[in-house]
Amino acid sequence: MKPSVGRTVHYVSYGTPGGEYASECRAAIITELSGDPDHPNQVGLAVFNPTGMFFNRAVQYDDGAEQLGTPDCPNTISHGDPFRYCTCGWREAAYAGGTWHWPERVAE
Ligand SMILES: [Zn+2]
Ligand SMILES: [Zn+2]
Repeated sequence: MKPSVGRTVHYVSYGTPGGEYASECRAAIITELSGDPDHPNQVGLAVFNPTGMFFNRAVQYDDGAEQLGTPDCPNTISHGDPFRYCTCGWREAAYAGGTWHWPERVAE
């Protein structure tokens, strides 16, 4: 799917390092496309938080998929427990704070 102005997407809020606030999906509307051929999925967003609204430009897309690290990583056993990311490039499936994605399908 290609982003276009006016589409509703999710913006991922930043969680606090201490966990007081978790990273969460927020409703957002695409306000502009980057027009940058190197970053076609970068967009401007109007983000709707429960307590207010803000505008953000040049927001990166993140599909939240697990990143596979290098296969010869000596710590593969630790991937996922306790590691949430690894120097080999592996990262657990998660949406990064400050990025956008298409809304998840919700079971009826
Ligand atoms: Zn979401
Ligand atoms: Zn690794």
